[in-house]
Amino acid sequence: MPGAKELKRTLSAALREGILSHAVLIEGEKGSGKKELSLWLAKAILCRSENRPCENCSVCRKIESGNHPDVEIYGGSGGARSFHIESIREIKNSLWLAPNESEQKVYILLNIEDMTQEAQNALLKSLEEPPAHARFILTCDNRKSLLDTIISRSTVYSLEPPTREECAAALREKFGEISEKEAELFAIAYGGNFGAASEGFSEGKSEIVFLAAKVPELLKNGSSYVLAAELSAKCKTRADLLEFLERLLNITGRCGIDRAAGKKAPVRVSPAEAVKTSEIIERGKTSVLQNCSLELIESWLCMELSRVFGGNL
Ligand SMILES: [Zn+2]
Repeated sequence: MPGAKELKRTLSAALREGILSHAVLIEGEKGSGKKELSLWLAKAILCRSENRPCENCSVCRKIESGNHPDVEIYGGSGGARSFHIESIREIKNSLWLAPNESEQKVYILLNIEDMTQEAQNALLKSLEEPPAHARFILTCDNRKSLLDTIISRSTVYSLEPPTREECAAALREKFGEISEKEAELFAIAYGGNFGAASEGFSEGKSEIVFLAAKVPELLKNGSSYVLAAELSAKCKTRADLLEFLERLLNITGRCGIDRAAGKKAPVRVSPAEAVKTSEIIERGKTSVLQNCSLELIESWLCMELSRVFGGNL
């Protein structure tokens, strides 16, 4: 999990010094690895090895596979108000019971912004006076959507999005078959979001990502007909075309900024080209969502993008 190195060090130190709060709230955008970090912290709390978590002992392995009797994970089905009060009632019923095989019990509550107001209020009571053996690890996308009283009863740690390099390195670690160059491109195309990038790679989005990265070069060479042909071959659905537009937006945006900062970028895009491209993409996305014909949007896109990269800027 990229991006969390620093945070792991902080949490380890707090745990070692015995000052880790009984309620830890991990804040981070979707795909930043909050669940992985929560599991890591649960292992760090319960593992009995010298270097905690060792990731090797039976405690660590049980937690990893979701089979540790003293680690309970709750969450909604995704979406607002999908995390119901019934889950909090279940927690309350088991909270005061002694742990089964460890000295402590860990409750992991994922994406608590999905909780109903009722559930958040019920959770508050448990956070207020938990038994000494109970620890809570809560996660959220953004603390602004939570009750102030929940935030004030937890220690908040923000999971910074990983850098592009960290994201690329983690992709290479996870997918042995991805080359260094491809990993860098994927990291850029998904804005450094490791969760989204690895999902994109597993779901076979490579062709769309690589096509988006080729756009400037194809058009600078006057090969807009190649782009048109590849677009219609690779983006057969609205979802594909939206995916292509999102990746193109990230790639041109990021590479344009790098160029402005005098950094090396894998795709040659000037800052002015990046700005123009983002305007076209916004219009393109609107057309896709308005159910215009895909062929029409694709040929419009090729024409507009040719103007940008064809040497008129
Ligand atoms: Zn262990």
